[in-house]
Amino acid sequence: MNYQVSEKGFYGEFGGAFIPEMLYPNVEELRSRYLEIMAEPAFREAFHHLLKHYVGRPSPLYEAKRLSQQYGARIFLKREDLNHTGAHKINNTIGQILVAQRLGKKRIIAETGAGQHGVATATVCALMGLECIVYMGEVDIQRQAPNVARMKMLGAKVVPACSGSKTLKDATNEAIRDWINNPGNTHYIIGSVVGPHPYPDMVARFQSIISEEIRVQLKEQTGSELPDYVIACVGGGSNAAGAFYHFLDDEKVKLVAVEAAGKGIGSGFSAATTTLGKPGIIHGSKTLLMQTEDGQIIEPHSISAGLDYPGIGPVHAHLFESGRGIFLSATDEAALRAGFLLTRLEGIIPALESAHALAALDQLQFKKEDTVVLNLSGRGDKDLETYMKYLPS
Ligand SMILES: *Cc1c(COP(=O)(O)O)cnc(C)c1O
Repeated sequence: MNYQVSEKGFYGEFGGAFIPEMLYPNVEELRSRYLEIMAEPAFREAFHHLLKHYVGRPSPLYEAKRLSQQYGARIFLKREDLNHTGAHKINNTIGQILVAQRLGKKRIIAETGAGQHGVATATVCALMGLECIVYMGEVDIQRQAPNVARMKMLGAKVVPACSGSKTLKDATNEAIRDWINNPGNTHYIIGSVVGPHPYPDMVARFQSIISEEIRVQLKEQTGSELPDYVIACVGGGSNAAGAFYHFLDDEKVKLVAVEAAGKGIGSGFSAATTTLGKPGIIHGSKTLLMQTEDGQIIEPHSISAGLDYPGIGPVHAHLFESGRGIFLSATDEAALRAGFLLTRLEGIIPALESAHALAALDQLQFKKEDTVVLNLSGRGDKDLETYMKYLPS
């Protein structure tokens, strides 16, 4: 079975580029150039230089001894939470800004929901001295004030999206409209393995540094490059795609993707796309999508803003349908519990997104000698207010 994108941009039946005619030149320019640009020695050198000296890579692979004891397996945490800006998203925005420079673009646009991708984009724009416009739903601007402040301090212009539910999908529509109106000088930085081809593949390649490092680090610490399990949370799916990438063809490595069940799968407040979704088109690609009988998108719910997305990247839709991926889900409550547990056992406060991956440890049956790598996608500083509401006494 092949898990990589096809020439035409598909993963099995999922993916492709379902875009308005007027967007075609922009997407086609990127599609025809991205692989050649990413293969240039000077590009690779610039990318790896920044990952090392600016982001702080390689991120540690930390054997969590007390957590391991709790679950009866050898558990390693891939510490993406220690990256500059506090999560894996910077790996992708560094890569894309270098691509944008090579395409001669002077202006960067992005959309953001919780603001994490907006901050990662504003960060690399400041670093490169490029103009940055971030579209964000009016409701999200109010809910995510600290990230809005960070973006502004970094010099980005935050533009409110005032249509529809005034959240992520409305911000996405505004960003697409902007791109259509400014085709020559603008690059659109998408923040996950979603959107029209080539975005899912390009983003997965930038995030694949995660599994590239895991193989080397695991070999050093255990003598084998291959763990028994790799576990990651899935919103759009970029940290999971990066953590799985170099293990896709090693069929003995179990790849576990953890979605947000919200208040429960059947509650009407969930974001467990593979369980609740049907094939449909969102943000320019065919994938699994939470939708009504007549194809209206169902608003997702998760306690973690980064997993609050009604779709899933096409690569994951394919990993689900093909059976290569094991798809689990964790409720808000289970994620909170797992977040508190890691904090008390290891002194690491995880992002609420990453806490969903940790919650999956309760759902798996390990053998004592199993090695488990869990991708700790981000740090929990941004989530302290939520954690404090639920602090166990
Ligand atoms: C944004 C975010 C996610 C979800 O995005 P993916 O594309 O699914 O990785 C997960 N963890 C953290 C810390 C995030 O900021």
